[in-house]
Amino acid sequence: MSSSRITAKGKVGVFGGTFDPIHNGHVAVARAVLESLDLDRVLFVVTSDQWLRDNPPVASAADRFHMVELAVDNVLEFTASDVDIVREGSTYTVDTLRDLREQLGDEVELYLIVGADSAASMNRWKDADQIGGLAKIVAVGRPGQSFATDSLDESHPASGAEYVEGPMIDVSATLVRGFLSDELPIDEIVASEVAKYIEQRNLYR
Ligand code: ATP
Repeated sequence: MSSSRITAKGKVGVFGGTFDPIHNGHVAVARAVLESLDLDRVLFVVTSDQWLRDNPPVASAADRFHMVELAVDNVLEFTASDVDIVREGSTYTVDTLRDLREQLGDEVELYLIVGADSAASMNRWKDADQIGGLAKIVAVGRPGQSFATDSLDESHPASGAEYVEGPMIDVSATLVRGFLSDELPIDEIVASEVAKYIEQRNLYR
């Protein structure tokens, strides 16, 4: 897969994930942050297939990236980024932010968007202490995941995060995959183009 260089100006949200597959919760979170922080763009950055931890992604990076493209196609401010797919090795947010800074230039302001569950674990991420210097951190509420910056130690990378409660949609990619393996309809939890692609490619069965 070859890298597609993105151009953007102003305030740019960086929303990284496995997106296995992208679901309505992801899209609603990005829309809420776009609106509440008045961002100019949100990049959906898809992780690579190189996974050193438990639970590797089920669908290939190419399929996951294509589903993100389908889901964001109708929103002018949303763009899929393959910056983590074209880089060799595992995906680490610190590398994502460095590469995007290089692609987009010094003028843009980066906003790292993370769900409350991910924000809470940021202290275990690679070069966690450098993340705050590369982007403003935005934590978004997720049903069942409490998040309060004042309960975090000062050294925690998300302790200075901006909190956006967001739409609180109780959907996960795990739920979508579970529905598919149980042959339940997914049209209320993923975009219709994504549902069609999953069916055509017979993914997650
Ligand atoms: P899985 O169920 O496979 O773990 P997921 O639904 O959590 O997947 P990811 O691609 O791992 O999706 O998530 C990317 C980012 O989106 C993470 O920061 C995660 O916290 C956030 N996120 C995902 N779903 C929601 C949701 N419903 N509400 C808020 N944040 C979410």
